Amino acid sequence: MGNQSLVLDEKLNDKPNETLIGRTKGFLDKDEGLRLYQIALAVSRRGPCLEIGSYCGKSTLYLGAACRENNSTLFAVDHHSGSEEQQPGEGYFDPETYDIRQGRMDTFPIFRQTLIDGGLENTVVPVLARSEVTARHWATPLSLVFIDGGHSFAAAFTDYNSWAGHIMPGGYLLIHDIFRHPEEGGQAPHYIYKMAAASGLFQVMPMTKTLGVLKRMECGELPEDLPVI
Ligand code: MG
Repeated sequence: MGNQSLVLDEKLNDKPNETLIGRTKGFLDKDEGLRLYQIALAVSRRGPCLEIGSYCGKSTLYLGAACRENNSTLFAVDHHSGSEEQQPGEGYFDPETYDIRQGRMDTFPIFRQTLIDGGLENTVVPVLARSEVTARHWATPLSLVFIDGGHSFAAAFTDYNSWAGHIMPGGYLLIHDIFRHPEEGGQAPHYIYKMAAASGLFQVMPMTKTLGVLKRMECGELPEDLPVI
């Protein structure tokens, strides 16, 4: 109760900040972002949320707003040195994310400014590390995991393998950039989406554009197609 006044002050900014979201770099569609917000608002009272691939903080603004509203926490995991397709010479390279002194990409300063501008410093815990390094000793059940990291098969599988087991019963696994056909985009997110669905441990919910939504079965819940004999 010690920080109650702080919490009350922040209630003034509960909803996702659309103006800030509009000028934040990123590849998240508004409808997808609002779905993230709605799901996080529904479940983040039960436990913290975690996102992989924060980049400059666009998804963080949606998930963070929901966690702030519920006095929950969002762990925002990113090494901030960019994924494969964001490196110099690649299709998604942005010169503004390149740090000349380091000689490599560094999106952390931009991400940090997004947290400050969005009033999320008391809600979001930035984790400046690779996903699998962060997961190595992780032991906290999560109400929501959002995978939006590297799009190679190795990166996507590593994210799925590292985090899917930490989702609490009734929690959500959200996967971005799912394209059902190779001509639409990379197939790695779709690959892990299908793995999660085939596990039988998740209920496949309607997608929003390229956002896949899977709900971890509650304890005692049975799938509709379970054999009865
Ligand atoms: Mg994405």
